[in-house]
Amino acid sequence: MRRTKIVATIGPACDDPQVIANMIRSGMDVARLNLSHGDLKTHRQRIQLLRSISHQLGTEVGIMLDTCGPEVRLTHLTQPLTLNQGDIFILTKTPEPGSYQAGVTWDGIFDMIEPGHLLWIDDGNIVMRCTDQQPDALRLEVVVGGLLQNRKKISSPDLTWPLDILTDTDREALLMGMQEGMDFVAASFIRSAEDVVTIRKFFEENHFDVFLISKIENRAGVENLAEILAVSNGVMVARGDLGVELPPERVPWLQKDIIAQANELGIPVVTATQMLESMTHAPRPTRAEVSDVAHAIWDGSDSVMLSAETASGLYPVESIQMMAKIAEDADNRREFMTRRSLPITRVADAVSRASAEVAESLEARAILTVTATGYTARMVSRSRPSVPIIAISPNPGVVRRLKLTWGVCPISSEDAEHSDDMAAKAIEAAADYGYVAEGDLVVLTAGVPAGIPGTTNLVRVETVSNPVLVGTGLGYGEPITAPVRFQPKNHEDLPDEAYIAVAVDFDAEDKEFFAHAKAIIAEHSGRTSDIAVAAVTLGIPAIVGVQGASKRLHNGQIVTMDPIRGVIYKGRAKI
Ligand code: ATP
Ligand code: MG
Ligand code: MG
Repeated sequence: MRRTKIVATIGPACDDPQVIANMIRSGMDVARLNLSHGDLKTHRQRIQLLRSISHQLGTEVGIMLDTCGPEVRLTHLTQPLTLNQGDIFILTKTPEPGSYQAGVTWDGIFDMIEPGHLLWIDDGNIVMRCTDQQPDALRLEVVVGGLLQNRKKISSPDLTWPLDILTDTDREALLMGMQEGMDFVAASFIRSAEDVVTIRKFFEENHFDVFLISKIENRAGVENLAEILAVSNGVMVARGDLGVELPPERVPWLQKDIIAQANELGIPVVTATQMLESMTHAPRPTRAEVSDVAHAIWDGSDSVMLSAETASGLYPVESIQMMAKIAEDADNRREFMTRRSLPITRVADAVSRASAEVAESLEARAILTVTATGYTARMVSRSRPSVPIIAISPNPGVVRRLKLTWGVCPISSEDAEHSDDMAAKAIEAAADYGYVAEGDLVVLTAGVPAGIPGTTNLVRVETVSNPVLVGTGLGYGEPITAPVRFQPKNHEDLPDEAYIAVAVDFDAEDKEFFAHAKAIIAEHSGRTSDIAVAAVTLGIPAIVGVQGASKRLHNGQIVTMDPIRGVIYKGRAKI
């Protein structure tokens, strides 16, 4: 079972509804729309399309809007341009189409860039040096050539653009996102906790409860990581820009460091950029890319992300299929996962950890968490248990927001947390979705009273199944699963296979029948009855005084009985 989540960027390559449907079927958990590309109307249409297709498929997809932030991009380049080292290229306020000229999204660049400054374009794929500065134009010499495309980002290792953390385009687009009920905001170029607070204020003014993912992609973001994480709901290791603004050789360990800190806090962390880059043009990734994805998972990523592979590549669906396969395989190799000694400072930490440990040692089928805010599920996920985590929430928004968290299968269900029979409701919901079935052992964890994040304080172990019958257990032995057999009419007819004998009356002539049974269920008798004494003498576990056994059980029916507790379950129950 795949535990790691997949975020995929939506762009022109996935405009066909069939492609979107196949992306969802192949494992896209969260769809990301990058506000740096495309227009507002298209983004809105894409969100609506994603919602309607996911509902048709009977599932939920999280929707993430990624802001432009303080960035500068190329404009007015009518077609891709091949640049070679030594070529001259002009950035100007009045670009001529079809020439070695382009415009920019922010005119301040004409004042800031001076001769000698370097410009990095498209995450550093193309490098140019300024040779002349005019009030409305910059003359640049190509240092590292490549294919230049419109809308590619321009950065400089020498300078930071003094732009707002949210641009006007961002504000307008985020308002649309709020109307459409987006689930996550990925905030680009977060430099400080103050940047996060600025964005939070914007959402507060608009009465929207934002789930904010801070993108760490520059020096300031790395330096102020701890304070940024303290006010964020999640984090993204945005390796494209990170490897431009800082030497690329630092990216591998910065990735590990950011992930470790996020894991410690129990907030989701997404590792992004160039994960299967070569699949933009080829149906198969390089081995190095496959290895990178697996390592990002073993580092502790909650989610891995696809960018151009799905947004503008030739193989959007295949990229997701590939990502899902790599993730599933890496998830199954738990021995390679980075072990973390997570701090336990609160009741919630300890209880979440305990639920994971109990589930693992009992080899439970699932950990069920009833969660009003998603908090409990995230805390359980923090211990990376080998057992699936099923999060049950009445709120579809909470369900979608858990689509970013490792190992959690979120499902919606009516107000389970307010009812007295929370456990029964949770089990019922998990069974409806096919995650658990009769006879499974499950561990239930929740916070009571419900609705207050951080109150995770309850662990319960339950068997999925109502006991069919109860009696007095004659005290020893392991649970037994076998078909039941009634006393045969002809005393010599003993069943061939192992069986649990059901005694309506004790008849001395049936002694052989009882002596060969794995266990005995007796209807009327008590502890001192003949059958009870016979069972003890024969050394066969028994439950006596099981009223209605002959009516409620039928010959050949498989049951599981717990001779210590005196409980009989239908089928093969794990108790
Ligand atoms: P960022 O640094 O914010 O990730 P990016 O330019 O690297 O910006 P991605 O979102 O990573 O963009 O997507 C990778 C590429 O896919 C883009 O450079 C662009 O070519 C293409 N792309 C993404 N979204 C769109 C879109 N909505 N419309 C057109 N092309 C897109
Ligand atoms: Mg961006
Ligand atoms: Mg990118």
